[in-house]
Amino acid sequence: MTAHPDVAARATAGFQRAYGDTPAGRWAAPGRVNLIGEHTDYNDGFVLPFALPLRTVAAAAPHPDGTWTVCSELTGETVAFGADEVAAPGRVTGWAGYVAGVVWALRAAGHRVPGARLAVASDVPLGAGLSSSAALEAAVLTALVDLGGLDLPAEHRPRLAQRAENHYVGAPTGIMDQSAAIRCRAGHALFLDCRTERVEHIPFDLGVAGLAVLVIDSRSPHRHADGEYAARRASCEKAAALLGVPALRDVPAVDLDDALARLPDDEIRRRVRHVVTEDQRVLDTVALLRDGRTRHIGALLTASHASMRDDFAITVPQVDTAVEAALDAGALGARMTGGGFGGCVLALVEADRADAVAGAVEAAYAERGFTAPTHTTVAPAPGATRLD
Ligand code: ADP
Ligand code: MG
Repeated sequence: MTAHPDVAARATAGFQRAYGDTPAGRWAAPGRVNLIGEHTDYNDGFVLPFALPLRTVAAAAPHPDGTWTVCSELTGETVAFGADEVAAPGRVTGWAGYVAGVVWALRAAGHRVPGARLAVASDVPLGAGLSSSAALEAAVLTALVDLGGLDLPAEHRPRLAQRAENHYVGAPTGIMDQSAAIRCRAGHALFLDCRTERVEHIPFDLGVAGLAVLVIDSRSPHRHADGEYAARRASCEKAAALLGVPALRDVPAVDLDDALARLPDDEIRRRVRHVVTEDQRVLDTVALLRDGRTRHIGALLTASHASMRDDFAITVPQVDTAVEAALDAGALGARMTGGGFGGCVLALVEADRADAVAGAVEAAYAERGFTAPTHTTVAPAPGATRLD
């Protein structure tokens, strides 16, 4: 998970190897972590991600014959497709489907997408919950928009990238990942209202506060994650219907007890309690950050983890162990980040304690015989951008 300084150079080298030519430009888009606000996105609620310094870079040039070819350093494959394959969602399979999906979504929105050759390199680990898929979509989307001179304001881009993933690839994700990859700013977290898609950039300056965010890859396999995700979504939709609201976002925290009393069983009550309290924790985190009280968000992060563990039931022993060990070693707050059943943990730590906290997590893993975790410290980085 260590940031490789020359991911852009690797994208250029890949382009030269594949096409024997130099690219017209390079476009980068970041992975993300969600500071707080888990499983709130599909409930029309609030999330607060920030972009990572780990990035995916697409080196690209127009292709006069109007087709698309893409190679990835990570897979070593080169995949070519034309308008017919793009027109049929799912036709281009595997990783290149994310790229074909972006072309499909742009064309479906009426844009004249230029043919292109692309070479992709990335420092974002795949499938670790840091959103390599949105980084790939955002890097490719930004490249195609620039190469084609398309009129597509940044605020409309996340929805198109999300459609690529939902409809072309067939993965049911919310709007958070693509919004983070495209709209984040350095030094800020992105406060996103998933109903209105309104964003606000919230200063999240760790350096000034003497703090660091440690991201720990729990290295636990994502078991049953797709089925469990679908089950949580279904529970939330059922609860909203029972409560007579469009989405759980419409249950204010102050009305939670009344709402819970109207639900038929304990499991659905716990699901609702997670979503409603989590939305409130996002709002409380934003309020603290606006006040510059960065270190005070720690307790909210830890409360979010307890809610995911006890009410939403989406954690696994590895992530619970990492959170507990980080807190025991003095982290100000810690929580699983991402959809759950594995993935990454983030811990807010005093900058000079980052190594000690990471070491404590490693020791706790060793004691339990878990696969050793990896870690990195991160600060909020910019969203998708043209490099040159
Ligand atoms: P996450 O987004 O959390 O990393 P996903 O399962 O949503 O996990 O997306 C991972 C998939 O995205 C990979 O399996 C691969 O198909 C695709 N992908 C992302 N980045 C790249 C890349 N640089 N090269 C090839 N495929 C990639
Ligand atoms: Mg993803």
